[in-house]
Amino acid sequence: MILTLLGAPGAGKGTMARLLSKILQIPTISTGALLRDEIESGSELGKEIDSLISKGNFVSDDMVSSLLVKRLQDADCQNGYILDGYPRNESQAEKLSQLGIHLDKAVLLTVADEEIIARLAGRRECPHCRATYHIQHNPSQVDGVCDECGATLQIRADDAPEIIRKRLEIYHKQTEPLIQHFRQNNLLAAVQGAKSVDDTVASVLQALGVTL
Ligand code: AMP
Repeated sequence: MILTLLGAPGAGKGTMARLLSKILQIPTISTGALLRDEIESGSELGKEIDSLISKGNFVSDDMVSSLLVKRLQDADCQNGYILDGYPRNESQAEKLSQLGIHLDKAVLLTVADEEIIARLAGRRECPHCRATYHIQHNPSQVDGVCDECGATLQIRADDAPEIIRKRLEIYHKQTEPLIQHFRQNNLLAAVQGAKSVDDTVASVLQALGVTL
């Protein structure tokens, strides 16, 4: 199964992807996480990416697509995967078609902007395995420590309030038109993302027709 998760920054795509990965036994490919890994590698490309992401801007389609294509060649992607954060605009959706990648579903997590702003203030990320948490809604078992790998959780630089507003603006302008694109292609499954994590997973599984 090949899925993509659509939704504003902070809608819960990362958390949903992590849980769905475990349930469906397919990996999550988060382009944001691939980009942050490149930044942490300290490469020249990473520095360029950092200067864009930290201001809330998109990374160029070519840059992000080439990182994605490279990751999709790994053996664990053979039986399907969950894309988190790609495509993010019409030309990236077009790129998927050019690559011969046919999505089974595009799952849209809908959350109001005010809720997003409140949520991102409490978001924490593992710099090692990229698992995401929320200090109130989805806390790690031990405060500040990743459940998956034990690393110390961090606050993302692009979760600063003024950067969040810019990311939301870009989302509405560039990514939201994809909702109509996927609807027209009969691929859209819209799920209310403002519920509890468990309820949201249950709604997503129902939308995918998966019974446990
Ligand atoms: P995310 O972890 O999905 O919130 O992504 C963090 C940041 O990485 C975004 O705000 C963008 O700057 C960049 N990014 C992630 N995915 C893409 C993409 N598909 N196209 C362009 N930029 C991206």
